[in-house]
Amino acid sequence: VRKEYDVVVLGSGVAGGVAARNLRGAGLSVAIAEPGPLGGTCPLRGCEPKKVLYDVIETLSRTRRHQGKGLRGEPELDWTDLVAFKNGFVDPVPEKSHQDLIGRGIDVTRGAARFLDPRTIEVNSARMTAEYVILCTGAGPRPLKIPGAEHIAESRRFFDLKEPPARMVVIGGGYIAFEFAHMAARAGVGVDIVVRSGRCLKHFDPDLVDMLVEKSMELGIGIHLNAPTERIEKGHNGLRVLAGDGAVDIEADLVLHGAGRIPAVEGLDLESGEVEVREGKLQLNEYLQSTSNPSVYAAGDVNSRGPQLTPVALMEAESVVENILKGNRKTPDYSAVPSVLFSHPVLARVGMLEEECRAQGILHEKRVKETSNWASVRRLGEETAGAKILLGSEDDRILGAHLLGPRVEEVINVFSLAMKLSIKRRDIMQTIWSYPSFIYDTVRFVLR
Ligand SMILES: Cc1cc2nc3c(=O)[nH]c(=O)nc-3n(C[C@H](O)[C@H](O)[C@H](O)COP(=O)(O)OP(=O)(O)OC[C@H]3O[C@@H](n4cnc5c(N)ncnc54)[C@H](O)[C@@H]3O)c2cc1C
Repeated sequence: VRKEYDVVVLGSGVAGGVAARNLRGAGLSVAIAEPGPLGGTCPLRGCEPKKVLYDVIETLSRTRRHQGKGLRGEPELDWTDLVAFKNGFVDPVPEKSHQDLIGRGIDVTRGAARFLDPRTIEVNSARMTAEYVILCTGAGPRPLKIPGAEHIAESRRFFDLKEPPARMVVIGGGYIAFEFAHMAARAGVGVDIVVRSGRCLKHFDPDLVDMLVEKSMELGIGIHLNAPTERIEKGHNGLRVLAGDGAVDIEADLVLHGAGRIPAVEGLDLESGEVEVREGKLQLNEYLQSTSNPSVYAAGDVNSRGPQLTPVALMEAESVVENILKGNRKTPDYSAVPSVLFSHPVLARVGMLEEECRAQGILHEKRVKETSNWASVRRLGEETAGAKILLGSEDDRILGAHLLGPRVEEVINVFSLAMKLSIKRRDIMQTIWSYPSFIYDTVRFVLR
């Protein structure tokens, strides 16, 4: 059977879901192909389940921090209940997505899609020809080509463990590695992070990262830098991780992948689709359109453009929709995208790093503060907090904001807004902020 559509979307995550719904809403005929459960990474095995676990574990951790400060007696973590609570958010998603998509008149095809020719897609034995194909296939863990790599579990495995392991190793030094390490450590797991290079969390401010690394080590997390993982073996009591030329030899019950995610393009037969890809990266113009096949666009984690984040996937999908409906006109704007590491305390960033500002010669002033002595921080029983705000010469323009501490996942949004709308330091200072609040303190004690 061969069906014809205006648009075929590959992947039902944030990017694919938004693209399919908006294009259907504009009256186009749309099909969506999905081999896995409908909904994609964010609600099923990424941000959402992570945040459910994080929030409960943070509550536990906060009650510990408040022992002797008005609280007595620690609550107990019930892992089975926690996983069930998390499932309450995750489990309904695929069926809800399915009903929503078909309710809008979108044809849902279950299976992995691949190109047969530049405008024909095959899913199982069904063939679909389309005016436009949108690639929204997301990203998957970067394969680690080492002996024993089959013992490394994808991060999603952590969400469904029957009980937390006694010992866990996370391979990789990015934000996902740190988030799982912190959650696990607070849940009582002995955790080690094994990092290939000499620096971890390269996307965040190095001074604040140093503070977080120190805090992580105080929590009992082992951090091993300059230790490329060489192999994983079955040991006497679990798995044995060998790294860093003999420097690391650790046994663990679970070895988790935190070593980055690469575009999921394998199996799409991009060659038949005449979609150019170089070193695993789709070749796209600024409108997210394939440079070799103008019928093809790509949005979300698959396109190696902006940071791999949900709001970015959504913005890219909206750009593609506009470009398809109105002709190429919309380029995604990655300039003030905040990113947050949900560790304890939280680390957040928006805009440029200090070294990027210096390389461009545009840094006018930097405001740096260790903020752990603030009452707002101490009230939460937190001991590690800091802030760095980078100002440009052009009338105190905000170039970057870097925050470590409680609630900074919310505070960072004020700086995103300021950067996006070119609101200057002076204007932020003149605004009346709610009190007591973290944003009040940040404005008054860091920006002022
Ligand atoms: C553990 C973890 C935590 C995260 N936490 C955060 C966070 O706190 N904040 C944040 O902003 N972002 C977070 N992210 C990133 C965020 O989840 C992604 O950026 C976002 O989900 C990307 O959406 P997408 O639509 O591009 O891809 P996905 O949601 O991954 O969707 C891709 C879909 O394509 C399907 N597919 C694959 N191959 C094919 C094929 N051949 N044919 C058809 N379909 C195919 C897949 O099955 C999948 O359903 C996290 C990610 C992970 C893994």
